Amino acid sequence: PPRGSPVLEVEGLRRAFGGLVAVNDVSFRLAAGEIVGLIGPNGAGKSTTFNLLTGVDRPTAGSVSFLGHRLVGLGAPAIARLGIARTFQHVKLVPSMSVIENVVIGAHLRGRAGPLRGLLRLDRAEEAQLHAEAARQLARVGLAEQADRPATSLALGQQRVVEIARALCLDPVLLLLDEPAAGLRHNEKAELAALLRRLRGEGVTILLVEHDMEFVMNLTDRLVVMDFGVKLAEGAPAAVRNDPAVIEAYLGS
Ligand code: ADP
Ligand code: MG
Repeated sequence: PPRGSPVLEVEGLRRAFGGLVAVNDVSFRLAAGEIVGLIGPNGAGKSTTFNLLTGVDRPTAGSVSFLGHRLVGLGAPAIARLGIARTFQHVKLVPSMSVIENVVIGAHLRGRAGPLRGLLRLDRAEEAQLHAEAARQLARVGLAEQADRPATSLALGQQRVVEIARALCLDPVLLLLDEPAAGLRHNEKAELAALLRRLRGEGVTILLVEHDMEFVMNLTDRLVVMDFGVKLAEGAPAAVRNDPAVIEAYLGS
């Protein structure tokens, strides 16, 4: 999609767990080629929102439109194939596999038949194709030379980037990152920010949940702030950081 055109439109999104409303009438939009931060105190409903957008969980009410497709009711594989990829709050690499084998898992997800068919019955040509795609994405994120190392022998910052390479195998229009900078060293954060800016330059839209305010303020074009399930504020990082309601939410937590 052309830069600035609508990618995602979330309207009145709601998810109740019994009496607890984890996401309460949340609406926001994302435009092509922007990096938006979804921030808020613990328990605000950020991860639940990600789960609703990716079909891991279903909303109690509300609608989500992605490039004109209605997402509510679709399962996670269908949403992934439409072009929304994600990483999780905790690193989910398979420790016994190499870096590239972990990325190939993402390439499987791209196939129409899904990962199961891919893992069970794969001919040589298909296998080679997926491997080539994984290698291409590893090169894109700067990890080509680590391809054959055991995944968990990499530093945490590089493991996060392997997860991003795995997500990129879907050739996503929209990339959702749940706390990508958590636990990273200062220089790893700087490298991650540079990678995300580069992906933005290639036209990828990015929505990220992140607690590291310095990282968020330097990287994002716009922020959406949640607190107790509700959207508290939205706007440019500099404006949001001075919003009294946002300051109150953070000081009060
Ligand atoms: P955040 O990611 O912003 O820290 P979450 O989206 O994980 O917040 O959680 C929002 C609220 O919803 C929290 O109070 C959490 O305990 C609750 N919650 C999340 N998932 C579930 C679930 N599967 N069942 C019950 N409550 C949940
Ligand atoms: Mg969370």
